[in-house]
This record gives sequence, C-alpha cells and structure tokens, in this order.
Amino acid sequence: MLKFSNTLSRTKEEFIPIESGKVRMYSCGPTVYNFMHIGNLRTFFFEDILLRVLKYNGYAVKYVMNITDVGHLTADSDTGDDKMEESAREQGKSVWDIAESYTKAFKNDILLMNIIPPDIYTKATDYIKQQIEMIKCLEEKGFTYTISDGVYYDTSKFPSYGDLARLDIKGLQEGARVEFSAEKKNTTDFALWKFSPKNERRQMEWESPWGIGFPGWHLECSAMSKTELGNHFDIHCSAIDHIFPHHTNEIAQSEACNGEKFVNYWIHGDFLDMGNEKMSKSLGNFITLQTLIEKGYSPLDYRYFLLMAHYKKKLKFSIEALDAARNGYKNLRGKINNLKQAVHEEGQVNDSKVEAEKFSEWKNRFSESINDDLNMPGAMAVFWDMLRDEGLSSYEKLNLAYDFDKIFGLNLDKTDVKSSDSEIPEEIKILVNQRNDAKKNKDFKLSDEIRNEIKGLGYEILDKKDSIEIKKIN
Ligand code: AMP
Ligand code: ZN
Repeated sequence: MLKFSNTLSRTKEEFIPIESGKVRMYSCGPTVYNFMHIGNLRTFFFEDILLRVLKYNGYAVKYVMNITDVGHLTADSDTGDDKMEESAREQGKSVWDIAESYTKAFKNDILLMNIIPPDIYTKATDYIKQQIEMIKCLEEKGFTYTISDGVYYDTSKFPSYGDLARLDIKGLQEGARVEFSAEKKNTTDFALWKFSPKNERRQMEWESPWGIGFPGWHLECSAMSKTELGNHFDIHCSAIDHIFPHHTNEIAQSEACNGEKFVNYWIHGDFLDMGNEKMSKSLGNFITLQTLIEKGYSPLDYRYFLLMAHYKKKLKFSIEALDAARNGYKNLRGKINNLKQAVHEEGQVNDSKVEAEKFSEWKNRFSESINDDLNMPGAMAVFWDMLRDEGLSSYEKLNLAYDFDKIFGLNLDKTDVKSSDSEIPEEIKILVNQRNDAKKNKDFKLSDEIRNEIKGLGYEILDKKDSIEIKKIN
C-alpha cells in the first residue's frame, strides 16, 4: 500500500488516485532571479523521489512544474519589490535576460542531480491571459476588491481559509495590527493583480481590465495548474514554507473560482538548514551546486547525502556529513563495480539464473520502505542488507541494485566515463551519461541540448563507433 503524509489531514494516508492508474501532480518550481541553492535542490530532489516512487508503482504520471518569472515579491505581505525586477536592476540586465539565464542554470542543476524533469514547465509570463481570466472569475463571484495598489482577494469570503496551515486567523489579525494596511480589509487578504507604480514603467507589465500591472505570485499556480491539470488533481508539493501563505492562497483562489476541491494530497518537504537557521538567499548563508562541484564533490555525492534523511525531517548541512556521504557513495559504487566484474567473469547469464522467490522477497522489502511515505533511509538500509545477503548470486544482486536505483537515481548502471579520466570534471561525466540515456531513449532534442550544454562548459563530445571521446576545447 502506498502512503504519503498529507498536510491537509496531518496524517499518513493511503494514496488513491482520482483516475485509476493515473496521477496528476504539480510542484512549485524556482523563482528565477538567482541561482538555486542546495536547500532549494533538496526540495526538487524530494519531488523527484516522489515522482520515481509513483512510476515504480506503475502509475502514469503527468507532472507539471512552474517557473516563476514575475510577481514573487521580496515580502510576503504584498508590499516588497518584485524579486525579478530587483535582480535585473542590481545586475544591470533586462528582467527577461535574468529569467532566461537563471532558468537555464536551474535546468542544468536538475540534470546534474539526476532529477527527472517535469513533463511541462509552465512559465508564469506565458499564462497572463489565464491569470486574468481567473481574477475575472473571482470578481464575478464576489471575492475581490480594489484598493490603491491592486486587486485583492477577500479572505473573509472563503470560510475554510487557512485550514491547510491550521491558521489562527484571529491571532494573526491582532498580531499584525501595527503593519496592517489601512486599505486591506483583512490581514490575510492578498494581491491578485498589482498595479504598476505610477510614473514608473516596469519591465514586465500587462494591460488588464483593472489597469496596467502584473499578477500576484499565488495566482500563477492556480491558473497554470487549472490549464494543464484541470480543476481537481491528485498531488501538489514543495517545501514547508509554502504551506502559508502560498498554498493557502492557491486553495482559496482555485476552490472559490472552480467551485470544487482543488487538490487531494498536499505533500511538503522540510528544509535544509545551515547550522541552526534555514539556508536562504535572503539570509545570505547559501551554497550552490556549482560551489560543491568546485570543491570537488559530485552532484551525486550530494544526492546520496540527501537520501540519508527522510523528507519530512530537517536536515543540517555540513561538509563533514557530505564527506561521509561521499565515502558511502564511493563504497557503494565500488561494490557495484565488483558485482559487474563478477557477472562479466561468469560469462553469459540470463534471467533464468534469478530465483524468483528470493528476488521478489527483496523487492517487497524495498517497496515496503519506499511506499511508506518515501522512507529513503529505510530503503537504503534494505539495499545494503541485500548486498550482504550471501544467498544471492552476483547476477541477482546486480539486477536488484539496478532495480532499486530506479528510485535512488545514483546512476549505478552507468559505466564511469573513461578517456584521460582525471582531467574530465565530474559534472561533464554526468552530463555525458545523461546524453547517452537521451540517445538511448531516442530523445534527440534533449541529447542535442545536453551536447550544447557540455560545449558551453568547454568540452566536446566525439561519437566514435564503439565509444565516445570527450575533449577539452582549447
Ligand atoms: P524559490 O526559488 O524561492 O521559489 O524556492 C524554490 C523551492 O525551494 C521552493 O519549493 C521552496 O519551498 C524551497 N526552499 C527554499 N528554501 C529551502 C531550504 N532551505 N530547504 C529546502 N527547500 C527550500
Ligand atoms: Zn506555487
């Protein structure tokens, strides 16, 4: 039985999809005003594990992730600056260039971390029409009002407002009295459409029935998930900071407009912390994947590090812990290489060599862990126990390892890329492997994209008859 912790009920629930055999899932993606830090990547990794577990259980998953390129303000209270415009100003670039370059950097991180990309990336600026439609829908139903800086959602009109976050609305009203905007009707009301400042042109702004401006951040996810997944879908996820206000507001918008339940399972991962505080761009205590690579770690060392913790637990980052993970991963790869060697030496083998009963016993133990709310530490323990089982042949072990790696995503079936090995950085080797996979799956568009990515990093791939060669471009 597949079970997830559902933030709605605060309990572990059996997963039952809306449509048999199919899952529709949405994750809140990056705000592309800066590089992702490894805390952000923890969340994208957890969503990747969730996707892999659903697929392992035989579900056909339609997976959508948004790219926020407008409207995410520096303060949750709808008062701050737009993070995108601020970054563009600081870097002296156009906001569109900022969006493009950090989206590219994000997709590169995803590739390096072996995170399976969504079926569709939805960019907020591509869905302005749908966002305006949703405001019109809310306006017709009486959920909106207009004040000097924009169109707002009246949360007092939505009786179950705050249920997801178990909000103490009265306490919030009282606590926020000092900051409370005189024009807003309730503290929890939020912007659906913000007007461009008077006498100032924003780089990103659009006409609307209410005036020139831009959509509030929460609106994009309601409008884009409706367009791509329908009014009611199975799973919505990201990290705990989004429970309030972001997801709380998404529910209020979607359910008020659509008149039906929005999402069945809300799944939230906990944070990666730096010391005792959360890793965050605003606190300035963040590390990027590139920094780890420069320090000589492979993105998959970091992936192994993340596998050691349950997604619902806080995880403290430290170089010592990452070193331990790197050793663990190296050790594992060593064991797998020995198995490959042993199988090679045994000569031709086929599946008749597998004892079906023993094989499925291990698979069952593994499934029990991963299906129990994505228990990765448990699944990893099963993995190591399996490798130590003297009753299994090398061939059986290797097959089980490859099967389990469909979840772990540690590239255990990949041969280490050769060719003057030591000079080729780890990230290039990973990209080469990704490209080989794309070619194998006949996804030539992706394979070309990865080749270009590699070229951008200063390396060239030469496809030979039986091998590939990687050359540094001088
Ligand atoms: P952002 O680009 O700020 O919209 O964040 C992208 C994703 O990273 C969101 O799902 C956030 O909830 C998540 N996130 C932000 N900080 C952390 C952290 N320290 N640990 C884990 N996830 C985080
Ligand atoms: Zn969202």
